[in-house]
Amino acid sequence: MTDVLKGKVVADRIKEQMKKDIQELKQANKTPRLGIVRLGDNPGDISYEKSIIKNCNNVGIESKVYERDRDIKTEELVELIEELNRNDEISGILVFRPLPDHIDEDIIRNVISPEKDVDCMHPLNLENIFEGKMDGFAPCTPKAAMEILKYYDIPLEGKNVVVVNRSMVVGKPLAMMLLNENATVTICHSRTKNLNEVTKNADIVVVALGRAKFFDESYFTEESIVIDVGVSLDENGKLSGDADYDRVLPLVNKITPVPGGVGSVTTSILLSQVVLACKNM
Ligand code: NAP
Repeated sequence: MTDVLKGKVVADRIKEQMKKDIQELKQANKTPRLGIVRLGDNPGDISYEKSIIKNCNNVGIESKVYERDRDIKTEELVELIEELNRNDEISGILVFRPLPDHIDEDIIRNVISPEKDVDCMHPLNLENIFEGKMDGFAPCTPKAAMEILKYYDIPLEGKNVVVVNRSMVVGKPLAMMLLNENATVTICHSRTKNLNEVTKNADIVVVALGRAKFFDESYFTEESIVIDVGVSLDENGKLSGDADYDRVLPLVNKITPVPGGVGSVTTSILLSQVVLACKNM
């Protein structure tokens, strides 16, 4: 029987810890507060924002949205972020991405204060991950995948883990986090040859290429543990992971569902990093 690794229980445990931490902070007259910078009114951003605010309210984090036009000049966005960096009432800053094409993300990444960088955009925070310093801010999605593995007591030491993604928001930081837990990590990408031979030889496969139902049974064995990071719409407009869930589920050992898997832990990781930022202030 395949184990379905649901994210909700993982998120709930993180939230419980967070609530305790927030109580302690409040006793010390500190309130964690997230500043959300949203450019334009893209429905995806608005729905993500609503979910973040709701989650903030649930655990006792305050939030404030800084909405600006999508055609904002780079200098104006820099000025806004610098203002938030100086604002003692803001513990963490989240800038919604992708940024509009005319804004150079590199400039923005470098402006945000590393101490308030709860979405781990700043090169210094990413560098920490690559150096094996895991107690600071981490990119939320890979951290969510790691929390799921930890919650379900899935051993990593000496295990072969294949990550199908080499982006800076998912694959590369995740590979470093796995390496830090002494896994043997292989990163795959669009030029990888015989991908299904590589994935079949792994103990754990993290799929994150962003194509609904791409991975069918031919990529896995009955021993496979599948962590599905992909989120896209299938041919019927239904939210789907990269794994062809219904076909793969009866075969593999363990799998995260989509929705209800990695994505449901990501926001809790973000919020726990707001709490961390507030503690460090
Ligand atoms: P991305 O930058 O487009 O990265 C996709 C990766 O997949 C790239 O490394 C690409 O290789 C690789 N790839 C594409 N086609 C491939 C193929 N045929 N065979 C093997 N590898 C292939 O996307 P991303 O921003 O990292 O996001 C990836 C997925 O994760 C998306 O579905 C996104 O929605 C999801 N996501 C989920 C969360 C969450 O909280 N659950 C958060 C962020 C992202 P190349 O490098 O060679 O192009």
